[in-house]
Amino acid sequence: MLRKVYTEVLTACRSRIEWTMRKRVQRENFDYQIVDHCNLRCAHCDHLSPALAKRCVDVDDFYSDLCELAKHAHARHLQILGGEPLLHPDILSILDVARRSRIADRLVLATNGLLLRKQGPEFWERVDVVRLSRYPGVDIRMRDRDLRDLCERNEVELWSIPQPDFYPAFASNPIGDAATVQSVFDECTMAHSCHTIHNRQLHRCSRAPFVNERLKLLGLPEIDVSKDALDLRAPDIDARTVRDLLKCSDPLEACKYCLGCSAAKTGHRMIPNGAYLEHLKEPDPTSDLRTSVARRGFRKALRALS
Ligand code: SF4
Ligand code: SF4
Repeated sequence: MLRKVYTEVLTACRSRIEWTMRKRVQRENFDYQIVDHCNLRCAHCDHLSPALAKRCVDVDDFYSDLCELAKHAHARHLQILGGEPLLHPDILSILDVARRSRIADRLVLATNGLLLRKQGPEFWERVDVVRLSRYPGVDIRMRDRDLRDLCERNEVELWSIPQPDFYPAFASNPIGDAATVQSVFDECTMAHSCHTIHNRQLHRCSRAPFVNERLKLLGLPEIDVSKDALDLRAPDIDARTVRDLLKCSDPLEACKYCLGCSAAKTGHRMIPNGAYLEHLKEPDPTSDLRTSVARRGFRKALRALS
């Protein structure tokens, strides 16, 4: 008799969990930016790290954001990044609470690699994937073979990604016509794969949080991006509001100041210390953008004809 009751309770709990899981929004990836600053100064950093002040997320806030989102959504990967996330003084607690939140199946640490050699066994035990961006001329002071062996020994997957070039990220003047903004948004892979938590807000992509930061640095008026993101502390957040935000096919307000993946790629380079603001004032590659959007329209028209 007792065994029967136990089985029934267990089945009810399991189906309740499955029902909740089905209701949650499923995504491949969420990003969380745990620091703003970095130990490199890449010219086209789309998180503006070379220009931003030091900021490390509070571990309790990080956990509470993930738990809140986990009630309504789930991802295969949670990518922890910055800036350079290994500059966070409590990276081990960050990894622990990320796991505990159950927001994702696997934890990915996205790094430029400079601090990897300083990580102890406790770090390697806690992470599932290291996503290493390899920038030209940056020496991480570890031999490839040693890093691969270290990952293998700890059953950590290594995604080593050469980054010889960047997409220029932002425009200083708004992109005037709605059709170009829509086209840039439609072709932007970040809109669909880099949903990001930054400063306690869930954003559809990884660049949107920085559009106003950049305008502020340039002394330009900020734009109203209140409809671009969800505040994870808001009382009325649920699976439907999360789904509506992430699946929306309209461009964000931020897209008016962003080149998405549509500008011509440019070679990676570092900016000398103190020269980043000057670099931000360089002219926008918006003419490249128009050429690329026009080419895309031309290719689409050709495809339709064939
Ligand atoms: S390493 Fe990454 S976060 Fe750091 S400046 Fe370069 S692009 Fe930005
Ligand atoms: S602001 Fe728009 S165009 Fe830029 S990365 Fe985000 S979705 Fe893409």
